[in-house]
Amino acid sequence: MNKNARVVLSHWTDLMDYINYITSNTWRNNPVRLRELEAAGFQCRLCPNSVASGHVLEAHHRTYSRIGCETDGDLTALCRDCHKGVTSMLRARRYAELSPARVQDYFKFETSALFDPSIPGAEQ
Ligand SMILES: [Zn+2]
Repeated sequence: MNKNARVVLSHWTDLMDYINYITSNTWRNNPVRLRELEAAGFQCRLCPNSVASGHVLEAHHRTYSRIGCETDGDLTALCRDCHKGVTSMLRARRYAELSPARVQDYFKFETSALFDPSIPGAEQ
């Protein structure tokens, strides 16, 4: 298994762990989550949508550093639409932060053995 495959597998395992956690009763009954929803008045922190107006309220992880043992301040109450918007914005920001140097390193890693003329049999 190459290095990149291990990275993908690690992310997949992390994703499955996350999905199992976020759909669990442990998460549903998490006192930090419940305190944030109550502190927000069961209303989205970004818009007027609320449980009272029939909207689903979710707890956005501001950090994943303590996932599974969150502390107050790690979560923000958001309606489903705002949660999707915030998540998309943060994901786009992370991709934008990938520097060209890191992309070049990846392709160098993938192709160097095939095209390095110093390796016997590599030249064609
Ligand atoms: Zn909202």
